[in-house]
Amino acid sequence: SMNRVRSEQWYQEALTHIVGGVNSPSRSFKAVGGGAPVFMERGQGAYFWDIDGNKYIDYLAAYGPIIVGHAHPHVTEAITRAAQNGTLYGTPTTLEVTFAKMLKDAIPSLDKVRFVNSGTEAVMTTIRVARAYTKRNKIIKFAGCYHGHSDLVLVAAGSGPSTLGIPDSAGIPATIAQEVITVPFNDLDALQVALERWGDDVAAVMVEPIVGNFGMVMPAPGFLEGLCRLTRQFGALVIYDEVISAFRFHYGSAQTFAAFDDFAAIEPDLTALGKIIGGGLPIGAYGGRKQVMEQVAPLGPAYQAGTMAGNPASITAGIACLEVLQKPGTYERMDALAAALVDGLETSAAKHGMPLTINRIRGSFSTHFCDHPVTNYEEAQTSDGEMFARFFREMLEQGICLAPSKYEAWFLTTEHTEDDIARTIQAADHAFYQMSR
Ligand code: PMP
Repeated sequence: SMNRVRSEQWYQEALTHIVGGVNSPSRSFKAVGGGAPVFMERGQGAYFWDIDGNKYIDYLAAYGPIIVGHAHPHVTEAITRAAQNGTLYGTPTTLEVTFAKMLKDAIPSLDKVRFVNSGTEAVMTTIRVARAYTKRNKIIKFAGCYHGHSDLVLVAAGSGPSTLGIPDSAGIPATIAQEVITVPFNDLDALQVALERWGDDVAAVMVEPIVGNFGMVMPAPGFLEGLCRLTRQFGALVIYDEVISAFRFHYGSAQTFAAFDDFAAIEPDLTALGKIIGGGLPIGAYGGRKQVMEQVAPLGPAYQAGTMAGNPASITAGIACLEVLQKPGTYERMDALAAALVDGLETSAAKHGMPLTINRIRGSFSTHFCDHPVTNYEEAQTSDGEMFARFFREMLEQGICLAPSKYEAWFLTTEHTEDDIARTIQAADHAFYQMSR
């Protein structure tokens, strides 16, 4: 088996200095049998190498941002240039303006944008802006969606909180939690009931228009259309959290993704962005309708600021990453590779009698060990976590790196090859064989 002695040693050291040994709980191996997570040293393209010298094919993509692979030359060159010019000024730059326009061109609902440093900040601020605009307090969110770690959205949160069994985080006052109403994803009736009961005080309905945090889950046909119609009927705003979905499936966001009939037409009032738009450096952004965004200081009374916001390094990396993604055929290629990979996984799982539900949306997919569809959080929760843990371990031993959670997606990058796909299918076949013995 693979030697990871140095990762184990450094994990022990990390535990004495860093809480839980990790700087984001989703990196811990707690849900996949515990022990030392792998300490990576270097990444190149679709691969990374750990501190013991083992090589892995990377499907984690750093939870999404690394869509053009590690150390892409165009992005690296941009970051180097930015570093040489100084990384932070505390003044406006032309880069920010150029990048804001680039995002607006791709996502037309953004009349105005503001850059921040993380998806968490972006989401947190959209809620404040919606509350300022509507002069209402409550928000409605969907069970299992994850919107970062600000107080209001750590209720029934998917992703890391669910993986670790703490979907409703401690440390959030009841007075705050009571301002959040949670309904099941893909359930318009439940949304209507909630709006009828609390509608007069609902500032916004927050949703991942394509879910990435309890698996990859498409909205049912008509769901987003109904969501927008109902929300507006009750005078609330629609917030799309596109931190995962923007620039993931095509050059644009879920709201401009025409794979489902009802997608293209439905524009939210506010959108939160992050991940891919930073090209691997820290970033977030939010934007939306002009009148709504004009709530934000210095124009309006809702305050939001940031020492690091719009820093030239993140913006330059983001521009470079989007430039790579603009190349014709980029998304089609990831789509085709992911399709081949999923086909191989499904065939192999069936051969070994493994229950496996894969939800694929172009270059991203989730793997739930169950024999029912996964269209909402409840169905995701009932997939077999222990089987996933076993699969994760078997794959890691063969140099295939997945996120250590059944709720997280596999992400293809522009750098994965047909050979990587073939090797991954082979590894999965061996994993399923071991699991079925
Ligand atoms: N929203 C969504 C949909 C996310 O997936 C995430 C991160 N996984 C966030 C918000 C939070 O982003 P960040 O981790 O950059 O704060």
